[in-house]
Amino acid sequence: MLVGVYGSNEGLENTPDSPNGTLLPPPKARAGELYVKKHIAKFGLPVIPIHRAVLSTRQDHVNFPKRLHPNNAKAQRILAEAMQARAACFWATDCGRGCSIKANYQSTTVHLPPALATGNLDILCNAHAREVTVGSDGKANGVIYIDKVTGQERAVKGRAVILAASSGETARILLNSKSNRFPSGVANSSGLVGKYIMDTVGASLGGSVPAFENLPVHNEEGAGTHVYIPWWLYKEASKLGFARGYHIEFGTGRRMPSLGTGGASPGYGKSYKEEVRQKYGAGIGFAGRGEMIPNKDSFCELDPTVKDKWGISVLRFNWKWSDHELKQAAHMQQTFHMIIEAIGGKPGNVSRTKEEAIASPGAIIHEVGGGIMGPDQRTSVTNQWNQCWDVPNLLLNDGSAFCSNADKNPTLTIMALAWRASDHLIEEMRKGNI
Ligand SMILES: Cc1cc2nc3c(=O)[nH]c(=O)nc-3n(C[C@H](O)[C@H](O)[C@H](O)COP(=O)(O)OP(=O)(O)OC[C@H]3O[C@@H](n4cnc5c(N)ncnc54)[C@H](O)[C@@H]3O)c2cc1C
Ligand code: SF4
Repeated sequence: MLVGVYGSNEGLENTPDSPNGTLLPPPKARAGELYVKKHIAKFGLPVIPIHRAVLSTRQDHVNFPKRLHPNNAKAQRILAEAMQARAACFWATDCGRGCSIKANYQSTTVHLPPALATGNLDILCNAHAREVTVGSDGKANGVIYIDKVTGQERAVKGRAVILAASSGETARILLNSKSNRFPSGVANSSGLVGKYIMDTVGASLGGSVPAFENLPVHNEEGAGTHVYIPWWLYKEASKLGFARGYHIEFGTGRRMPSLGTGGASPGYGKSYKEEVRQKYGAGIGFAGRGEMIPNKDSFCELDPTVKDKWGISVLRFNWKWSDHELKQAAHMQQTFHMIIEAIGGKPGNVSRTKEEAIASPGAIIHEVGGGIMGPDQRTSVTNQWNQCWDVPNLLLNDGSAFCSNADKNPTLTIMALAWRASDHLIEEMRKGNI
């Protein structure tokens, strides 16, 4: 309700249904997306509306605030105003560049304005956090940061400290927070800060589709992808040779700003223009996004020599894909090849090896882990409420607390866990435990 997510309930194991009235109506699939759906149904691949944090209709500013903040008139008023300030998507611009009408979900346009309107939020700009400070009672009591304008060191104090600097930087701040009590970094008695880092497994393949050539010009813009293919091979899991699964995102059609020429040969003049007109919109691209299983060889640590311009140690990264991820990436490419052939297209080249098929670590930009959550303080950094076992008033509210990295893109799960953790923190503060 607060974020605004479009999608549909399909009753699929991989994409659990949301409570009635939660999802906004999804946009229609485009011609190319429908074409793929029609031709791959025989393989049992579902093509369904993607869940995307974009308003397809305006938010119900009358009822949602009451349900989100019962018995809190001020919060209801502020939220109602914030919801009224968001317009529904007009399906015409590139969401990756930000959304000036606030249809897509961004913390800068959706969360920060109402939080500021409460009068309870101060934002310190140009503040580069270096370390968490811990009092003699073992509790976190603030953060030391560098004022990037003056270069001066400054400190802020707090009853609780929440790190959400993105998983790598959160691990870096923890590791740089050394004290007598925590000589290897705060909250690191397990030695696991920076360990078990993950990205999403990625592989891609493109092609061109003669059936999409020379189509009458029509509007194919929208809010990015409108449909996707969730993981479908549960029943064949034992035959695949790798654990877990992936989903497929794909793009077709004439869209800005990536003006694809659909494979027109290099050239110039009239014949080139004609070929571009024929083939523009005939390209298709598939990208797999799969689950990575955490492993002990993928970790970050403080670099012993390299420091940033403020003299703070930077991270260095160690990475190893297991055979599960490598085989999964090869499987992705083979699937994309099969799909492109099934729609009568010409696929690009499948990589020669599984090592070539997989995207580089970090390339999918879904970095998580490094402060993993778990039931035991010897084998994890945080508990189920994102609280550090060693320092319960220090919370890791970003992807660092992920102890696995399912195929789903991570941000909405980061959000959900952060919300759950924040509710728990408020309760603990009310009870006087923190
Ligand atoms: C191009 C791109 C596309 C993506 N697409 C998707 C997608 O489609 N779906 C999806 O789920 N995810 C996507 N992701 C991943 C998603 O952006 C991240 O998972 C998400 O932003 C992580 O949220 P976070 O709050 O942990 O970190 P961030 O959003 O990175 O926020 C961290 C904040 O901390 C600040 N910060 C960092 N270090 C310090 C410091 N030392 N001191 C003070 N402040 C600091 C940063 O400036 C930043 O504002 C994408 C990422 C990129 C880059
Ligand atoms: S297409 Fe994207 S950027 Fe444009 S209005 Fe819709 S959500 Fe906003």
